[in-house]
Amino acid sequence: MNFSFDIKHAQSHSLARVGTINTPHGPIQTPAFIPVGTRASVKSVLPEAMADLGAQALLANAYHLYLQPGPEILDEAGGLGEFMNWPGPTVTDSGGFQVLSLGVGFKKVLAMDADTFRDDDVIAQNKERLAHVDDEGVTFKSHIDGSMHRFTPEVSMQVQHKIGADIIFAFDECTTLHNTRAYQILAMERTYAWAIRCLDEHKRLTDERIDKPYQALFGVIQGAQYEELRKRAATELGGLESDAQRFDGFGIGGALDKSQLGTIITWVNEILPEDKPRHLLGIGAPEDLFVGVENGIDTFDCVLASRIARTSAVYTMEGRFNLSNSGYKRDFTPIDDECDCYTCAHYTRAYLHHVFRAKELVAATLATIHNERFIVRLVDQMRQALLDGNFAEMKADFLGRYTHRSGQSSN
Ligand SMILES: [Zn+2]
Repeated sequence: MNFSFDIKHAQSHSLARVGTINTPHGPIQTPAFIPVGTRASVKSVLPEAMADLGAQALLANAYHLYLQPGPEILDEAGGLGEFMNWPGPTVTDSGGFQVLSLGVGFKKVLAMDADTFRDDDVIAQNKERLAHVDDEGVTFKSHIDGSMHRFTPEVSMQVQHKIGADIIFAFDECTTLHNTRAYQILAMERTYAWAIRCLDEHKRLTDERIDKPYQALFGVIQGAQYEELRKRAATELGGLESDAQRFDGFGIGGALDKSQLGTIITWVNEILPEDKPRHLLGIGAPEDLFVGVENGIDTFDCVLASRIARTSAVYTMEGRFNLSNSGYKRDFTPIDDECDCYTCAHYTRAYLHHVFRAKELVAATLATIHNERFIVRLVDQMRQALLDGNFAEMKADFLGRYTHRSGQSSN
Protein backbone atom coordinates (compact mmCIF):
# COMPACT_ATOMS: atom_id res chain seq x y z
CA MET A 1 0.00 0.00 0.00
CA ASN A 2 1.36 3.40 -1.01
CA PHE A 3 -0.55 5.55 1.44
CA SER A 4 0.50 6.61 4.91
CA PHE A 5 0.35 9.52 7.31
CA ASP A 6 3.31 10.39 9.53
CA ILE A 7 2.92 12.93 12.32
CA LYS A 8 6.15 14.86 12.76
CA HIS A 9 5.04 17.19 15.51
CA ALA A 10 1.93 17.47 17.67
CA GLN A 11 1.21 20.50 19.86
CA SER A 12 0.84 19.48 23.50
CA HIS A 13 -1.81 22.08 24.40
CA SER A 14 -4.02 21.77 21.28
CA LEU A 15 -5.05 19.33 18.57
CA ALA A 16 -2.77 20.98 15.97
CA ARG A 17 -0.14 18.83 14.31
CA VAL A 18 2.39 18.80 11.47
CA GLY A 19 2.80 15.74 9.29
CA THR A 20 3.21 14.16 5.89
CA ILE A 21 0.56 12.36 3.85
CA ASN A 22 2.33 9.96 1.48
CA THR A 23 0.49 9.05 -1.73
CA PRO A 24 1.51 7.09 -4.83
CA HIS A 25 2.00 10.46 -6.59
CA GLY A 26 4.13 12.02 -3.87
CA PRO A 27 3.87 13.54 -0.41
CA ILE A 28 1.70 16.34 0.99
CA GLN A 29 3.28 18.25 3.87
CA THR A 30 0.50 19.11 6.30
CA PRO A 31 -1.26 21.29 7.26
CA ALA A 32 -1.80 22.06 3.58
CA PHE A 33 -4.27 23.94 1.43
CA ILE A 34 -5.31 21.94 -1.64
CA PRO A 35 -6.53 24.16 -4.52
CA VAL A 36 -9.61 23.06 -6.44
CA GLY A 37 -9.77 22.16 -10.11
CA THR A 38 -13.43 21.12 -10.18
CA ARG A 39 -13.47 19.81 -13.75
CA ALA A 40 -9.81 18.70 -13.93
CA SER A 41 -8.72 22.30 -14.43
CA VAL A 42 -7.97 25.12 -12.03
CA LYS A 43 -9.97 27.75 -13.87
CA SER A 44 -7.68 29.96 -16.01
CA VAL A 45 -4.37 28.62 -14.58
CA LEU A 46 -1.99 26.00 -15.98
CA PRO A 47 -1.00 23.08 -13.73
CA GLU A 48 2.66 24.11 -14.07
CA ALA A 49 1.77 27.51 -12.61
CA MET A 50 -0.07 25.78 -9.74
CA ALA A 51 3.08 23.77 -9.00
CA ASP A 52 5.20 26.94 -9.18
CA LEU A 53 2.97 28.69 -6.65
CA GLY A 54 3.42 25.85 -4.19
CA ALA A 55 0.26 23.75 -4.61
CA GLN A 56 1.12 20.26 -3.36
CA ALA A 57 -2.06 18.55 -4.56
CA LEU A 58 -5.23 19.39 -6.51
CA LEU A 59 -8.84 18.43 -5.80
CA ALA A 60 -11.40 17.72 -8.53
CA ASN A 61 -15.06 16.86 -8.30
CA ALA A 62 -16.45 13.42 -9.06
CA TYR A 63 -19.94 14.70 -9.89
CA HIS A 64 -18.70 17.12 -12.55
CA LEU A 65 -16.22 14.64 -14.08
CA TYR A 66 -18.87 11.92 -14.09
CA LEU A 67 -21.16 14.10 -16.22
CA GLN A 68 -18.34 15.48 -18.36
CA PRO A 69 -16.21 13.95 -19.89
CA GLY A 70 -17.25 10.72 -18.09
CA PRO A 71 -15.09 8.56 -15.79
CA GLU A 72 -14.20 6.10 -18.59
CA ILE A 73 -12.27 8.84 -20.40
CA LEU A 74 -10.18 9.56 -17.30
CA ASP A 75 -9.59 5.84 -16.75
CA GLU A 76 -8.40 5.42 -20.34
CA ALA A 77 -6.14 8.46 -19.94
CA GLY A 78 -4.41 6.83 -16.97
CA GLY A 79 -6.25 8.69 -14.25
CA LEU A 80 -6.95 12.28 -13.29
CA GLY A 81 -3.35 13.46 -12.80
CA GLU A 82 -2.15 12.00 -16.09
CA PHE A 83 -5.19 13.38 -17.93
CA MET A 84 -4.70 16.97 -16.71
CA ASN A 85 -0.89 16.99 -16.73
CA TRP A 86 -0.58 17.23 -12.96
CA PRO A 87 2.10 14.82 -11.73
CA GLY A 88 1.46 15.36 -8.01
CA PRO A 89 -1.20 13.97 -5.66
CA THR A 90 -4.87 14.36 -6.55
CA VAL A 91 -8.10 14.21 -4.58
CA THR A 92 -11.75 13.86 -5.62
CA ASP A 93 -14.74 14.60 -3.48
CA SER A 94 -17.59 12.15 -3.87
CA GLY A 95 -20.17 14.35 -5.52
CA GLY A 96 -22.54 14.07 -2.57
CA PHE A 97 -22.35 17.78 -1.88
CA GLN A 98 -23.01 18.77 -5.50
CA VAL A 99 -25.82 16.27 -5.96
CA LEU A 100 -27.52 17.33 -2.75
CA SER A 101 -27.01 21.01 -3.55
CA LEU A 102 -29.20 20.38 -6.58
CA GLY A 103 -31.77 18.92 -4.22
CA VAL A 104 -32.16 22.08 -2.24
CA GLY A 105 -31.66 24.34 -5.22
CA PHE A 106 -28.87 26.22 -3.47
CA LYS A 107 -25.31 26.74 -4.64
CA LYS A 108 -23.82 27.98 -1.39
CA VAL A 109 -25.23 25.53 1.10
CA LEU A 110 -22.40 25.97 3.59
CA ALA A 111 -22.89 29.70 3.83
CA MET A 112 -26.51 29.57 4.90
CA ASP A 113 -27.70 31.30 7.99
CA ALA A 114 -28.64 28.77 10.66
CA ASP A 115 -31.47 30.83 12.04
CA THR A 116 -33.32 31.74 8.88
CA PHE A 117 -35.34 28.60 8.20
CA ARG A 118 -35.93 25.22 9.73
CA ASP A 119 -37.59 23.32 6.96
CA ASP A 120 -36.52 20.13 5.24
CA ASP A 121 -38.37 21.09 2.09
CA VAL A 122 -37.16 24.61 1.59
CA ILE A 123 -35.81 25.32 -1.87
CA ALA A 124 -34.57 28.54 -3.37
CA GLN A 125 -37.12 30.66 -5.15
CA ASN A 126 -37.55 29.89 -8.83
CA LYS A 127 -35.28 26.86 -8.58
CA GLU A 128 -36.40 23.41 -9.48
CA ARG A 129 -35.54 20.56 -7.13
CA LEU A 130 -33.12 18.49 -9.17
CA ALA A 131 -32.29 15.64 -6.78
CA HIS A 132 -34.18 13.13 -4.69
CA VAL A 133 -32.63 11.08 -1.87
CA ASP A 134 -33.74 7.67 -0.69
CA ASP A 135 -32.06 5.02 1.46
CA GLU A 136 -30.33 3.44 -1.53
CA GLY A 137 -28.91 6.56 -3.16
CA VAL A 138 -29.70 9.80 -4.97
CA THR A 139 -31.51 10.31 -8.26
CA PHE A 140 -30.66 13.58 -9.94
CA LYS A 141 -31.00 15.55 -13.11
CA SER A 142 -27.87 16.69 -14.92
CA HIS A 143 -27.39 20.46 -14.75
CA ILE A 144 -25.82 20.21 -18.23
CA ASP A 145 -28.47 18.48 -20.36
CA GLY A 146 -31.32 17.56 -18.00
CA SER A 147 -30.68 13.81 -18.30
CA MET A 148 -31.52 11.63 -15.29
CA HIS A 149 -28.79 9.87 -13.28
CA ARG A 150 -28.45 7.88 -10.10
CA PHE A 151 -25.59 7.86 -7.58
CA THR A 152 -25.40 5.12 -5.00
CA PRO A 153 -22.42 4.50 -2.69
CA GLU A 154 -21.31 1.77 -5.10
CA VAL A 155 -21.61 4.03 -8.18
CA SER A 156 -19.67 6.80 -6.43
CA MET A 157 -16.84 4.35 -5.64
CA GLN A 158 -16.83 3.04 -9.21
CA VAL A 159 -16.73 6.57 -10.60
CA GLN A 160 -13.95 7.66 -8.24
CA HIS A 161 -11.89 4.56 -8.95
CA LYS A 162 -12.07 5.28 -12.67
CA ILE A 163 -11.17 8.93 -12.12
CA GLY A 164 -8.22 7.55 -10.17
CA ALA A 165 -7.35 10.26 -7.62
CA ASP A 166 -4.99 9.32 -4.76
CA ILE A 167 -7.54 10.32 -2.12
CA ILE A 168 -11.27 9.74 -2.61
CA PHE A 169 -14.26 10.34 -0.37
CA ALA A 170 -17.13 8.13 0.76
CA PHE A 171 -20.55 9.07 -0.62
CA ASP A 172 -22.48 10.89 2.07
CA GLU A 173 -25.76 12.68 2.37
CA CYS A 174 -24.85 16.31 2.75
CA THR A 175 -27.53 18.20 4.65
CA THR A 176 -28.00 21.93 5.08
CA LEU A 177 -28.46 24.09 8.15
CA HIS A 178 -32.10 24.42 7.09
CA ASN A 179 -32.83 20.77 7.84
CA THR A 180 -34.48 19.85 11.11
CA ARG A 181 -32.60 17.91 13.79
CA ALA A 182 -34.78 14.88 13.06
CA TYR A 183 -33.74 14.98 9.43
CA GLN A 184 -30.06 15.41 10.38
CA ILE A 185 -30.29 12.17 12.39
CA LEU A 186 -31.88 10.37 9.45
CA ALA A 187 -29.19 11.66 7.07
CA MET A 188 -26.43 10.68 9.47
CA GLU A 189 -27.75 7.15 9.81
CA ARG A 190 -27.99 6.95 6.04
CA THR A 191 -24.43 8.23 5.70
CA TYR A 192 -23.28 5.53 8.13
CA ALA A 193 -25.01 2.79 6.14
CA TRP A 194 -23.52 4.22 2.94
CA ALA A 195 -20.05 4.33 4.56
CA ILE A 196 -20.13 0.55 5.04
CA ARG A 197 -21.21 0.08 1.43
CA CYS A 198 -18.43 2.43 0.26
CA LEU A 199 -15.80 0.47 2.22
CA ASP A 200 -17.03 -2.82 0.77
CA GLU A 201 -17.17 -1.57 -2.81
CA HIS A 202 -13.80 0.17 -2.40
CA LYS A 203 -12.22 -3.10 -1.28
CA ARG A 204 -13.77 -4.99 -4.20
CA LEU A 205 -12.53 -2.39 -6.70
CA THR A 206 -9.06 -2.17 -5.10
CA ASP A 207 -8.71 -5.96 -5.42
CA GLU A 208 -10.08 -5.95 -8.96
CA ARG A 209 -7.89 -3.07 -10.16
CA ILE A 210 -4.70 -4.39 -8.57
CA ASP A 211 -2.51 -2.88 -11.33
CA LYS A 212 -3.65 0.68 -10.45
CA PRO A 213 -2.03 2.90 -7.79
CA TYR A 214 -3.64 2.55 -4.34
CA GLN A 215 -6.45 5.01 -3.64
CA ALA A 216 -7.06 6.09 -0.06
CA LEU A 217 -10.71 6.30 1.03
CA PHE A 218 -11.80 8.97 3.51
CA GLY A 219 -15.06 8.78 5.47
CA VAL A 220 -17.17 11.92 5.87
CA ILE A 221 -18.32 13.17 9.27
CA GLN A 222 -21.74 14.81 9.19
CA GLY A 223 -23.98 16.03 12.02
CA ALA A 224 -24.44 19.74 11.27
CA GLN A 225 -24.27 21.97 14.35
CA TYR A 226 -25.33 19.28 16.84
CA GLU A 227 -22.69 18.15 19.34
CA GLU A 228 -24.30 14.79 19.99
CA LEU A 229 -24.60 14.03 16.27
CA ARG A 230 -21.08 15.13 15.34
CA LYS A 231 -19.60 13.06 18.20
CA ARG A 232 -21.71 10.07 17.30
CA ALA A 233 -20.62 10.29 13.64
CA ALA A 234 -16.95 10.60 14.64
CA THR A 235 -17.23 7.62 17.00
CA GLU A 236 -19.09 5.41 14.54
CA LEU A 237 -17.08 6.21 11.40
CA GLY A 238 -13.76 6.54 13.27
CA GLY A 239 -14.12 2.99 14.57
CA LEU A 240 -15.86 1.51 11.54
CA GLU A 241 -14.38 -1.66 10.12
CA SER A 242 -16.00 -3.69 7.38
CA ASP A 243 -14.38 -6.80 5.94
CA ALA A 244 -11.07 -5.75 7.54
CA GLN A 245 -11.28 -2.37 5.78
CA ARG A 246 -11.10 0.93 7.65
CA PHE A 247 -11.10 4.49 6.39
CA ASP A 248 -7.64 5.89 5.55
CA GLY A 249 -8.65 9.35 6.73
CA PHE A 250 -11.68 11.53 7.36
CA GLY A 251 -13.40 14.55 5.95
CA ILE A 252 -15.43 16.92 8.07
CA GLY A 253 -18.30 18.05 5.93
CA GLY A 254 -21.85 19.11 5.69
CA ALA A 255 -23.61 22.02 7.18
CA LEU A 256 -21.14 24.06 9.20
CA ASP A 257 -22.25 27.11 11.08
CA LYS A 258 -19.11 29.22 10.70
CA SER A 259 -19.50 30.92 14.08
CA GLN A 260 -19.17 27.44 15.63
CA LEU A 261 -16.46 26.13 13.31
CA GLY A 262 -13.75 25.60 15.93
CA THR A 263 -16.15 23.97 18.37
CA ILE A 264 -17.51 21.55 15.78
CA ILE A 265 -14.03 20.58 14.55
CA THR A 266 -12.89 19.99 18.15
CA TRP A 267 -15.86 17.72 18.95
CA VAL A 268 -14.94 15.58 15.97
CA ASN A 269 -11.14 15.64 16.12
CA GLU A 270 -11.03 14.71 19.82
CA ILE A 271 -12.72 11.44 18.85
CA LEU A 272 -11.32 10.53 15.42
CA PRO A 273 -8.26 8.21 15.38
CA GLU A 274 -5.20 10.43 15.88
CA ASP A 275 -3.07 8.66 13.31
CA LYS A 276 -5.40 9.35 10.35
CA PRO A 277 -5.44 12.58 8.31
CA ARG A 278 -8.39 14.96 8.67
CA HIS A 279 -9.66 17.09 5.82
CA LEU A 280 -12.02 20.05 6.21
CA LEU A 281 -14.27 20.08 3.15
CA GLY A 282 -14.93 23.33 1.34
CA ILE A 283 -13.60 25.83 3.88
CA GLY A 284 -10.86 28.27 2.86
CA ALA A 285 -11.28 31.85 4.09
CA PRO A 286 -8.04 32.99 5.80
CA GLU A 287 -9.56 33.35 9.28
CA ASP A 288 -11.21 29.90 9.04
CA LEU A 289 -7.93 28.24 8.07
CA PHE A 290 -6.42 29.30 11.39
CA VAL A 291 -9.40 27.84 13.24
CA GLY A 292 -9.01 24.59 11.32
CA VAL A 293 -5.26 24.23 11.84
CA GLU A 294 -5.35 25.00 15.56
CA ASN A 295 -8.06 22.39 16.02
CA GLY A 296 -6.27 19.59 14.23
CA ILE A 297 -7.21 19.86 10.54
CA ASP A 298 -4.47 18.54 8.22
CA THR A 299 -5.80 19.52 4.78
CA PHE A 300 -8.29 21.99 3.31
CA ASP A 301 -9.87 22.58 -0.08
CA CYS A 302 -11.97 25.50 -1.23
CA VAL A 303 -12.98 27.25 -4.47
CA LEU A 304 -13.14 30.64 -2.76
CA ALA A 305 -9.62 31.89 -3.64
CA SER A 306 -10.06 31.30 -7.38
CA ARG A 307 -13.76 32.20 -7.48
CA ILE A 308 -13.27 35.63 -5.93
CA ALA A 309 -10.14 36.19 -8.05
CA ARG A 310 -12.29 36.03 -11.17
CA THR A 311 -14.40 38.87 -9.78
CA SER A 312 -11.22 40.95 -9.19
CA ALA A 313 -11.16 40.39 -5.41
CA VAL A 314 -7.69 39.70 -4.03
CA TYR A 315 -6.24 38.82 -0.64
CA THR A 316 -3.39 40.84 0.82
CA MET A 317 -1.71 40.97 4.21
CA GLU A 318 -3.65 44.20 4.70
CA GLY A 319 -7.02 42.66 3.88
CA ARG A 320 -9.11 41.88 0.81
CA PHE A 321 -9.91 44.41 -1.92
CA ASN A 322 -11.28 44.65 -5.48
CA LEU A 323 -8.81 45.48 -8.24
CA SER A 324 -11.51 46.84 -10.52
CA ASN A 325 -12.27 49.71 -8.13
CA SER A 326 -11.31 53.07 -9.63
CA GLY A 327 -8.77 53.84 -6.91
CA TYR A 328 -6.33 51.38 -8.50
CA LYS A 329 -6.27 52.93 -11.98
CA ARG A 330 -2.92 54.64 -11.37
CA ASP A 331 -1.58 52.36 -8.63
CA PHE A 332 1.72 51.08 -9.99
CA THR A 333 2.50 48.86 -7.01
CA PRO A 334 2.05 45.06 -6.84
CA ILE A 335 -1.15 43.60 -5.38
CA ASP A 336 0.76 42.81 -2.18
CA ASP A 337 4.36 43.89 -1.76
CA GLU A 338 4.95 41.02 0.68
CA CYS A 339 3.77 38.40 -1.83
CA ASP A 340 6.31 36.28 -3.75
CA CYS A 341 3.95 35.14 -6.53
CA TYR A 342 4.51 35.49 -10.29
CA THR A 343 1.79 38.13 -10.60
CA CYS A 344 3.20 40.35 -7.84
CA ALA A 345 6.73 40.01 -9.26
CA HIS A 346 5.71 41.19 -12.75
CA TYR A 347 2.46 43.19 -12.68
CA THR A 348 0.96 46.25 -11.05
CA ARG A 349 -2.47 46.92 -9.59
CA ALA A 350 -2.95 49.45 -12.42
CA TYR A 351 -2.37 46.77 -15.06
CA LEU A 352 -4.69 44.34 -13.32
CA HIS A 353 -7.30 47.09 -12.95
CA HIS A 354 -7.05 47.65 -16.70
CA VAL A 355 -7.35 43.97 -17.73
CA PHE A 356 -10.31 43.45 -15.41
CA ARG A 357 -12.06 46.55 -16.79
CA ALA A 358 -11.22 45.49 -20.37
CA LYS A 359 -12.45 41.95 -19.60
CA GLU A 360 -9.17 40.43 -20.81
CA LEU A 361 -8.89 36.72 -19.96
CA VAL A 362 -5.44 37.17 -18.45
CA ALA A 363 -7.06 39.11 -15.59
CA ALA A 364 -8.51 35.91 -14.16
CA THR A 365 -5.22 34.07 -14.61
CA LEU A 366 -3.10 36.69 -12.85
CA ALA A 367 -5.52 37.26 -9.98
CA THR A 368 -6.04 33.52 -9.45
CA ILE A 369 -2.27 32.88 -9.32
CA HIS A 370 -1.97 35.55 -6.63
CA ASN A 371 -4.91 34.38 -4.51
CA GLU A 372 -3.99 30.69 -4.67
CA ARG A 373 -0.39 31.55 -3.73
CA PHE A 374 -1.63 33.70 -0.86
CA ILE A 375 -3.73 30.89 0.65
CA VAL A 376 -1.25 28.07 -0.03
CA ARG A 377 1.54 30.14 1.51
CA LEU A 378 -0.57 31.17 4.50
CA VAL A 379 -1.15 27.52 5.45
CA ASP A 380 2.55 26.77 4.77
CA GLN A 381 3.42 29.57 7.19
CA MET A 382 1.05 28.08 9.79
CA ARG A 383 2.86 24.74 9.40
CA GLN A 384 6.21 26.43 9.95
CA ALA A 385 4.86 28.38 12.92
CA LEU A 386 3.70 25.11 14.55
CA LEU A 387 7.23 23.72 14.13
CA ASP A 388 8.78 26.93 15.45
CA GLY A 389 6.39 27.06 18.40
CA ASN A 390 5.00 30.51 17.57
CA PHE A 391 1.61 29.72 16.00
CA ALA A 392 -0.36 31.94 18.41
CA GLU A 393 1.86 34.96 17.68
CA MET A 394 1.74 34.35 13.94
CA LYS A 395 -2.06 34.09 14.05
CA ALA A 396 -2.45 37.27 16.12
CA ASP A 397 -0.06 39.16 13.84
CA PHE A 398 -1.82 38.04 10.66
CA LEU A 399 -5.40 38.55 11.82
CA GLY A 400 -4.51 41.87 13.45
CA ARG A 401 -3.37 43.26 10.12
CA TYR A 402 -5.73 41.35 7.82
CA THR A 403 -8.99 42.05 9.60
CA HIS A 404 -8.02 45.52 10.81
CA ARG A 405 -7.55 46.96 7.32
CA SER A 406 -9.95 44.65 5.51
CA GLY A 407 -12.92 46.94 6.02
CA GLN A 408 -11.04 50.06 4.86
CA SER A 409 -9.61 48.69 1.67
CA SER A 410 -12.44 46.44 0.53
CA ASN A 411 -14.22 49.15 -1.44
ZN1 LIG B 1 0.99 37.86 -5.32
